[in-house]
Formats: sequence, C-alpha cells, structure tokens
Amino acid sequence: MIVEGAILDRSGPRAAYVRVQAGRIVEVGSIGCDSTRGRERRIRGIVTPAPVNGHTHLADFLSVREPPAGSLADLVRPPDGYKFRLLGSASPAAKRAAMHSALRWMERQGIGATLDFREEGIDGARLLRAAARGSSVRPVILGRPPAGEIAGPDLEALLEVADGIGISSVREESAARRRRFAQACRRSGKLWALHASESVRESPDDYLDPRPDLIVHLTRATTDDLLEVKSARATVAVCPRSNALFGRHPPLAEMERLGLPVMLGTDNGMLRPPTLFREAEFAYVASRLAHRPVSASFIARSLLVTPWDLLGHPDRATIEPGGPAPPLILRLPPEDPEYQIVTRAGEQVIVPPGSPDHRGSGR
Ligand SMILES: [Zn+2]
Repeated sequence: MIVEGAILDRSGPRAAYVRVQAGRIVEVGSIGCDSTRGRERRIRGIVTPAPVNGHTHLADFLSVREPPAGSLADLVRPPDGYKFRLLGSASPAAKRAAMHSALRWMERQGIGATLDFREEGIDGARLLRAAARGSSVRPVILGRPPAGEIAGPDLEALLEVADGIGISSVREESAARRRRFAQACRRSGKLWALHASESVRESPDDYLDPRPDLIVHLTRATTDDLLEVKSARATVAVCPRSNALFGRHPPLAEMERLGLPVMLGTDNGMLRPPTLFREAEFAYVASRLAHRPVSASFIARSLLVTPWDLLGHPDRATIEPGGPAPPLILRLPPEDPEYQIVTRAGEQVIVPPGSPDHRGSGR
C-alpha cells in the first residue's frame, strides 16, 4: 500500500509518500515518484512513528465507575487511598484482566509502548508482563519496591522483571531508600522515576536527589524548578486531564519555552481509559483555556519522539525504509500534520496494523 500525504517524525512534518509492505516501510519519497506506477492501492494520509503513553497505572483500570469525589490524596495516596484499596481487594486474575483490557485500548490506537508505574513489588511487575504477553504495546514497567526493609537480592529480582523503579514521591520514600533504588537502576541500566510537585510544590533539591531519568507531573513547579530539571537532563511526563480533575493545570507552555523533553501520559486507569490522542487534544485546548498556549508541534513531539529517546530507541522516532517497527498510518488530511495529529487523531482514522491495507496486499 502507498500512503500519499505527509510524514511526521523526528525531522518534523513534510510532504511525502510512504510505501508499506507487511507492516514495514519499504519506500519513502516525493509524491508522484513511487516505483509502483499505480499498481498498488493508495490512500491519502499521514505516517508517523508509533506514539508512546508517557505515564499510566494500568491496573487501576480495575474500576470503570466514576471515581468518588475527594482530594488527590483520598484517591491515590499510598498506602490506603481509594486506588490502593481497589488493588488490595482484587484478585491477581482480576488485575491481570484489567491491565490486558487497558493494553487492548492502546493497541487500537496504535500505541507502541507505555511507561507504567506498577505498584505491588515483584508480583505486580510479573502480573503486567503476563498481561502484556502477545500485545503489540510494549509495557515499560517501573516497579515499586514494597515499604519497609528490602533485601538486596529482592531488589535485584524486581529489576530483573521490571524496566526500572517508579516511586510515589519523595514524601513517601526516605533519601536513603531513594539513593539505593537509583543506584540499583543505574547498575542495571534501568530507569529511575518518581512523581513530583503534583498537588503541592516540592523542592528540586529533594526530587532531583538522586537524579531521576523521569519525573511525572511537576504541576506546581516554578520556572526556576523547571530550569533545574532541565539541567539535570530529566524527562518530564505530564498528565493534563488527570491534573484538571483536581483543578490544576501543568505549566506546559513554560516547559515548551524552556525546551524540556516532555511526554504526555493518561495516568490512573480508574479515572479514564488510556486514550492518548484525547489527552493530546485536551492538552492543546486546556493550554488555551489557561491563556498559556502550547504549540501542536510540541505536543506531537511529546507523543512521537521524546519517549523513544528516553527509552533508548531514537531510531523508532524516524520514518524511513527498513525502520525497526511498524509505523502508524492515519487517514487524515496531510495539511498541517502536527495539528491533525493533536486535534483529529483517534481510533476512527487509524489503519489497524493487522489490516490487509497495512500488510500491503496490493489491489
Ligand atoms: Zn502516576
């Protein structure tokens, strides 16, 4: 199949055609110059790398009801917030089914990977691995060590299953434990991540010690805080819909102005399904509502490029022949691709990776 229209990847948007066979890119070039001489089916659209969900708690998908009213702490604070009571009362099979279901939602949106904060220690990490077996969405599991003493071998065992460690925040973990976790992650080449400055401002002196690879939220961060995050070369995951539920707005425009590497995440699965494109549209609209507009280009990059750099797969953010993974194909107008992706993308315009079109079966 030939997609005629535009490419949007690390190098930005440009007019082009892309020829796809068996889900892989075999040819890229200027429109009208492809080698098939009209013998292959063609559609108009946009081709991008697979987007990445920068922050999830997929097991929270256990609850699909409207979340109870209450503060952020009532809902998600360990050890006995609403979500921890949900997790504590559910069977492993129910949690695995919830995560599987959340991953299916993401498959239908062409998501390539999700960075998931997986509570419940090694059992929790194992459960997500099991739930993701056979899925086209790669779970990047940021496991959470149990409270209290943890033996060295237990920490190593967690990091054998997980892709890193993700803690609640510096208020729940001592500096000594944080250093130990961060060191273990460095030693094994894995990611060290935490939530910070979500409901109240926390000091970068705390959350940047030791230096994290990934910081989630920073809703309450000041410009000076963001500058420190930038010099620490940490990537930030922002969850605008989750923040909005509690009346907050992340300083996305300031992050764009300062040039921080930002990803978007859909956060807790009990608050909403992991619909990343809706998150992107909300980020765009909400930034205007707050009179601090963020560009479509910055939001598109946060979905398609920045996460792959953090994950050590910069090649996955480029559309070129022989690329390492199937691209995302969207039946969208090729004009202004960044704006299309942010405001119009969704399941209804995605050519599913398993479809005959994607396989390129010709006419
Ligand atoms: Zn979170």
